[in-house]
Amino acid sequence: MLITNHVLAGATLGLLAPTCPAAVAVPAVAVAGVASHFLMDSIPHWGVADADEALAIAVVDGLVGLGVSALVLKSSPPDARLRVAAGIFGACLPDTDQPYRLFFGRGFHPRWLDRFHSRIQTEHAWLPQEFLVATALATGFAVAARRLS
Ligand SMILES: [Zn+2]
Repeated sequence: MLITNHVLAGATLGLLAPTCPAAVAVPAVAVAGVASHFLMDSIPHWGVADADEALAIAVVDGLVGLGVSALVLKSSPPDARLRVAAGIFGACLPDTDQPYRLFFGRGFHPRWLDRFHSRIQTEHAWLPQEFLVATALATGFAVAARRLS
């Protein structure tokens, strides 16, 4: 699953989370974000490509994901921004070792977590599904943000 889609899912979770003290909301939304990551990765998604193509797409996706993170944080109501950031953090956390793995040859997550993360993947070669999911998630975020503003 593209990281941009995880960003959008985590941001929406943070946006829709109940308003409560940050000491409760931030860790709760981060944990929900991690859960959303594994749920989304367990749904069949694009992921089959040769190494050069996959790397090029991953780099573009990472940069788009950063830009989308800034955009959703900027467009969130100020009182929701910390929860939105926590949702993004949690939703992206399981994939944080992928750039590290690229540069250093190994990840830093525990092996049991890598095995679980790898085992739940069902990948196919139809990339447009990722864009459809991104469009649906971005629309959901925009609707929720408009209602809360
Ligand atoms: Zn993942």
